[in-house]
Amino acid sequence: MTRLIFLGPPGAGKGTQAKTLAEFLQIPHISTGDILRQAIQDQTNLGMQAQGFMDQGELVPDKLVEDMVEERLKQPDAKTGWILDGFPRKVTQAEFLAELLKSLGEGDEKVVNLDAPDETVITRLLGRGRKDDTEEVIRRRLEVYRDETAPLINYYSDRQKLLTINGNQSQEEVSTALKNIIAA
Ligand code: AMP
Repeated sequence: MTRLIFLGPPGAGKGTQAKTLAEFLQIPHISTGDILRQAIQDQTNLGMQAQGFMDQGELVPDKLVEDMVEERLKQPDAKTGWILDGFPRKVTQAEFLAELLKSLGEGDEKVVNLDAPDETVITRLLGRGRKDDTEEVIRRRLEVYRDETAPLINYYSDRQKLLTINGNQSQEEVSTALKNIIAA
């Protein structure tokens, strides 16, 4: 049973790697960013509440993403394992998730920290062309990552859940490193 959380700065390759690995393991890839972008496209209530924050590179309020993740993890296909990508993004969300997983009897998750230097992630993000990938928004997202998300590295390392992979190498190399780490 594989339950993995992908952590790392925007542009480190989390999305691509999480998706590929989830397909390989045949478990759901749960990306909060993807769910939110879909909600915006569908003009749902959630989408309308989230859009302003996302356009500016700010985090969407906890309650919105937490409800979303809880609902998703309770779906039947998530009983065979999952990869969470983009959640948690801050310590309060990690605490919420720990409680949720405990209540679901799923507290054996591991956290993959996919690290890459700023120059690498900025170049990758500028080349990606997503709506929230303008230089100003990218800078803000990196700041938010450093202030809010990076503390999760210590949070999970203190709890012996952290595995670190160098994201500053080719997609294939990261992919191989990932498969090795989860097989270990
Ligand atoms: P991502 O696709 O993971 O880069 O997420 C894109 C945007 O969605 C972020 O910049 C946030 O505005 C929002 N978002 C995604 N996941 C979360 C989360 N766990 N908490 C708050 N906001 C989030």
